[in-house]
Order: sequence, then structure tokens, then C-alpha cells
Amino acid sequence: MAAGASAATAAPRKKPAHLELVLLGTKAGPPIDPLRTGIASALVVDGATYVIDCGRSATTQYLRAGLTFKSLKGIFVTHLHADHIADYYNFFLLAGSVPNQEGDSLPGPIPVYGPGAAGGLPPTFGGGTSPTINPDSPTPGIAELTDDCHNAYAYSSNVFLRDMGIRDIRELADVHEIAVPSSAGATFENTAPQMAPFVVMEDENVRVSAILVPHGPVFPAFAFRFDTKYGSVTFSGDTTYTPNIPRLARDTDVLVHEAINVRGWRNGTPVFVDHLLQSHVEVQKVGPIARQSRARHLVLSHISDLRGNPLPVAQWRKWARGGYHGPVTIGEDLQRIRIA
Ligand SMILES: [Zn+2]
Ligand SMILES: [Zn+2]
Repeated sequence: MAAGASAATAAPRKKPAHLELVLLGTKAGPPIDPLRTGIASALVVDGATYVIDCGRSATTQYLRAGLTFKSLKGIFVTHLHADHIADYYNFFLLAGSVPNQEGDSLPGPIPVYGPGAAGGLPPTFGGGTSPTINPDSPTPGIAELTDDCHNAYAYSSNVFLRDMGIRDIRELADVHEIAVPSSAGATFENTAPQMAPFVVMEDENVRVSAILVPHGPVFPAFAFRFDTKYGSVTFSGDTTYTPNIPRLARDTDVLVHEAINVRGWRNGTPVFVDHLLQSHVEVQKVGPIARQSRARHLVLSHISDLRGNPLPVAQWRKWARGGYHGPVTIGEDLQRIRIA
């Protein structure tokens, strides 16, 4: 083959996207799954990266997706269930340490936006009592959680500070607890009253709004909407049915929504299924939410089919299309959705 032939036949290089959604991990819930990594997404706006939730393997998936830590402009956490934060501290502990082999590490302090303290715990489901971990502070918000991680890893950080000259990890996490407007009247006992969306953060690339969503006893649990000059993407977070989602997601370009399937699940008692559906939306009923939101594209992520693996994708697509006429994507780990 003549020199240059391969270059002549190579596919033309695509221009980088102005706005791209990257599904880092798409798995719902804490159990470790070999086929999907934990829920985490990235939104890339003109090369600046924003991470939404940091489930298991989020930092690894981030690099596998070709993103750089240098480009990270913010981390947004919808709520403090373990499946959304399992890899959160690794962004600082590991990616904030010395540069990797590609010379990449965090550029400096990274703004984090997430829940404040719940302020109370729910009663035990099914009655009885449950043990309480750390009774002096049993409902830490994202700021205390981060400080506690700093303290728990103090030995490693103190040694690396002396031995490798790493940066002070406490300065890399610039944590902001999201203040819910008091007019909403929300508490851990009234977790998601109907309310207006409110702005959480705005920079040169994005304006991020939030709204409370009902996710069983969890408080606060947020949905986030990112508006950019190229379009908008709305993340439901973990939620059951609520008018707050269509309100936040109105006319959004992409609605990234969670979904669960309980049909055909043999081990689920009706009481437990009902309990789960106070926290999640059935895949068979997600279409009408997208329609009501007038979303242009529905993407499912935070996926759980209680019948087990692997996910019957064609069946899920059929279910999710019910009641919605736009395109539907059943999310896969590392899938990229170019918006503009
Ligand atoms: Zn979850
Ligand atoms: Zn959750």
C-alpha cells in the first residue's frame, strides 16, 4: 500500500461537540454489577466538563470516556445515597494527587454542589427500630461528609504532603451545600412540595437550576437542569412521580431520567414493590413524563431491572416509548449523546 493511502481512507475527523452528554455509569442502586458501573454523567460544554453524580467507578469511567481532570469545572450531587457518591471523594483523593501518566490531575479547587444535612431520619420501614450510626451527627450533608473524608484519610494525605509534595486536599474541594428556598416549606418530613425551580450556580458555560424531587424518605433529593447557549439537559436524579420534574424540564433538549422495572419480578411482595415505587419511576410510565415535559429526547440512566441481567434493551425501549413520540435512548455506560 502506498504511503498516505491509509490517511486518504481515514474517516474525516468530526468537529468537537459544543454540547455533549456522556453517560459514565448507568447502574441504579448500591449492589455491584459486572455489566454497568454506578450512576454518573458528564456534561461537556465547549470542552468544560461538569459531573452529575459520582457512582462507583465514576473517576475511571471519566478517563475511559476521554475526559480530562484538567477540564473539570464542577461536581453536582443529586442526593447522598451511596450509589451516587461512591466515587465522589476519589475525584480529590486520587485525581487531586500527583498527575497521572498523561500529566492530568485536577486543575485546582473544584466547586461541588450537593445536599445539606437532612436534619432528621425517617421511621423504620415496616415498624420496629433501627440502629443509628454516629448518633451525634446521623444526617451529615455534603460539607460534613467531605470534611469527614478528609479526616478519615488524614494519614495518607499527611504522608503524601510530606513525601510527595501533593496539594492540600482540603483546598481542592470547594463545597457548596444547596440552599433550598425557605418558601418551598420543605423538610425531611415534607421532602418535595410543589415548587418553582431555583438557580444553584451560573458560570460562563452553564446556568444550573434545581428542584426537589420525591425519593422515598431521602431529603433533600434534587433534579438538576443545565441550560447552555447550545441547549439544555435535565437530570431527574432519583425520583418517583412528581409535577416538579415536568416543571423543571419544560422544553428541555434532553431529559435524562431514571427507570426501574418491577414487572415479572418473582421475589417482590406487593408491599415491597409499592415501597420501591415511592422512590422510583417504572420504565413503563416514564414516557408520559417526557411528553409532559415536552422533552426533545428521552435518555434513561440509573437503570434497574429487578428480574436481573442482562437488560432486555428492545423491551425497555418499547416500554419507554409508550406515551412519548420523541427519540428514546436506553443508556449504556460510556455512551455519548451529541446535542450541538
Ligand atoms: Zn440511586
Ligand atoms: Zn437514591
